[in-house]
Amino acid sequence: MTAKLIDGVAIGKELRGEIKQGVDVLEASGCKPGLAVILVGENPASQTYVKNKEKSSVEAGMKSELIRLPATVSEQELLANVNKLNNDDSIHGILVQLPLPDHIDEDLVIQAIDPSKDVDGFHPQNVGKMMIGQETFLPCTPHGIMEMLKRSGIEIAGKHAVIIGRSNIVGKPMGQLLLQKDATVTYCHSRTKDLPSFTKQADILIVAIGRAKFVTDEHIKDGAVVIDVGMNRDENGKLCGDVDFEKAKKVASAITPVPGGVGPMTITMLLKNTLQSAEMACRKEKSN
Ligand code: NAP
Repeated sequence: MTAKLIDGVAIGKELRGEIKQGVDVLEASGCKPGLAVILVGENPASQTYVKNKEKSSVEAGMKSELIRLPATVSEQELLANVNKLNNDDSIHGILVQLPLPDHIDEDLVIQAIDPSKDVDGFHPQNVGKMMIGQETFLPCTPHGIMEMLKRSGIEIAGKHAVIIGRSNIVGKPMGQLLLQKDATVTYCHSRTKDLPSFTKQADILIVAIGRAKFVTDEHIKDGAVVIDVGMNRDENGKLCGDVDFEKAKKVASAITPVPGGVGPMTITMLLKNTLQSAEMACRKEKSN
């Protein structure tokens, strides 16, 4: 078997076209969506992510604001910047690029973002809403994966979804979103004993570990759908996922590549959340 490719670039492009249309409609009614990103320090990976976010939001027709702060910025000053954006009516989405320097409490900063502008979906209030299935901003990476599955015609209800990884930004919310669509969900992590005995049962296998080419055909059931969240560098410095793509594609029925899979969807969902936030804010403004 050779797996069908789930193309995150193509799906992302389709979705960005829809988002751009939504932005145009909103702008015509006098409300331009605005996304603000705060970047602290000079972390090269963060700089690349932020640049891509800025470029994508401009392409989608949004207002984009980048606030660069030095790595030495005090927690208080960072919080003051967040607060300023909370009170800026032209900004509908606020994102503080993580990780932050050690002297700054990440939880405190996330909690300082107005939940109605928390387009990353990391604020505890929004995480709580997601848990109980209320409408809110969904975290971008798992949200993007759900959209990929949907647009690829992959059925979720009744399927066994196994997730490797339990981070707050990927693994945990991923399981909740799949559960809400009636999958049976199993979480695996670094303390899981005999990992393949679980992953081999998966109809849908989501891999979010952060270890290059860790998952091979030995972990995958014939015909499973494999979603690779990992972004790593291989021994030659080339971008690769947590899944050994060449081995996995021989047994999977569908698989996401790295690059070109989950990555492009994450930024797309950030734009979607920003549009959603602007739509809500504009509706509220008009009803006042
Ligand atoms: P993380 O916070 O480091 O979490 C990694 C998870 O993997 C942890 O739950 C850990 O278990 C588990 N794990 C580590 N080694 C394992 C092993 N040998 N067997 C089973 N589980 C193991 O990472 P993350 O933020 O979720 O990110 C995961 C990967 O996705 C990274 O490569 C990251 O760069 C990538 N990522 C990509 C995107 C995108 O847009 N494409 C977005 C976010 C992240 P414990 O909890 O027991 O430690």
